[in-house]
Amino acid sequence: MKFNSKLIHAGWDSDENSEGSITVPIYRTTAYQFNNTEHAANLFGLKEFGNIYSRLGNPTVGALEARLTALEEGAMCVALSSGTSAVMYSLINIMSQGDNFVTANQLYGGTYTMFDNILPEYGINSKKVDITDLEAVEAAIDEKTRAIYCETITNPGLVVADISALADIAHSKGIPLIVDATFTTSAILKPFEYGADIVVYSLTKWMSGHGRVIAGAVIEKGGFDWGNGNFPLYDKPDTSYGGMRWGHDLGDLGNVAYSLGLRTVPLRNLGANMSPDTAFEVMSGLETLALRMERHCENAIKAAEYLTEHELVEWVRFPGLKDDPAYDLSEKYLKGTGGTMVVFGIKGGKDAGQKFIDNLKMFRHVANVGDTRSLAIHPATTNPGLVMVSQ
Ligand SMILES: *Cc1c(COP(=O)(O)O)cnc(C)c1O
Repeated sequence: MKFNSKLIHAGWDSDENSEGSITVPIYRTTAYQFNNTEHAANLFGLKEFGNIYSRLGNPTVGALEARLTALEEGAMCVALSSGTSAVMYSLINIMSQGDNFVTANQLYGGTYTMFDNILPEYGINSKKVDITDLEAVEAAIDEKTRAIYCETITNPGLVVADISALADIAHSKGIPLIVDATFTTSAILKPFEYGADIVVYSLTKWMSGHGRVIAGAVIEKGGFDWGNGNFPLYDKPDTSYGGMRWGHDLGDLGNVAYSLGLRTVPLRNLGANMSPDTAFEVMSGLETLALRMERHCENAIKAAEYLTEHELVEWVRFPGLKDDPAYDLSEKYLKGTGGTMVVFGIKGGKDAGQKFIDNLKMFRHVANVGDTRSLAIHPATTNPGLVMVSQ
């Protein structure tokens, strides 16, 4: 199946699973009947895959996970209740007290706060660098660094990450590259093709695309060696799981040790699972992802070009403009688009920015991106005059 067909068909066989229903049914159930005690033991022991309890997995959510795995051409996916929980689980899944990760000094606001204010309280520290400065990225890695973490396009600076180069640096140190691909989606960029090991999504945004749910996912490429000695959590016996050493004892499943660990440790015990209703909504949105992204990108470049010419506009940042600092990386990574976001400054500073926002007609003034509605926000407290537009 090609990408556009996978959006609609991958991960669910209506003949086998659903009395012929061609959409995935919503399984609103908490728990699942075991065939017998041996079946129950096998499921808990990861000797057999199947349904146990909807915090750990649900058939509707499972269909979405299979679809996302296929779209991303990865090995396994875990869906979660929000992009925020996906970001957090993607990191705590391989880190404990005293560990750190190297990341960008520009990030989605909630992620930045998590990295700056929450994780350090638990002894996990981020080392923030200019992610386009590859020497700084490499220099920041020490013996306690467990990952490089970046966003495909940062918010609100619209810096495009050089994923291949970052993956090379990470792999030379035996650690993974984790990429938040919310701003690009698999329709524009598949980070695994450029060497990333883990992809994180806020499915709230373009992936579901209609401004109706909060949802997230973590997807694993497969094949990274989590038992390479750089991940103490994967070397030591897990006392909460029968002494399992996640990096060593899984046999053939070692290929997806990270995903199995994520489902079994943070998801099972911290509980940010996705509801089946949310999974259904995300799958409805995903069906039109390719069409929507095409149109989002077409609209964004038109808006960027219009604003560049406008006499009241001071500056415009859009990776698809030839003189934009991110243009070369956008050419390499964004499939000939400049993405879907435009950031610009208005002459007259903060007051002018406020006036602009207060006089919007069809654009919605909200703290969100990636909706069918065009959105705008004015983060005046941090950046006077700056206006962000999501087409
Ligand atoms: C929105 C967003 C998040 C957080 O996702 P939620 O679904 O709102 O929890 C994380 N990363 C990026 C890039 C985002 O835009």
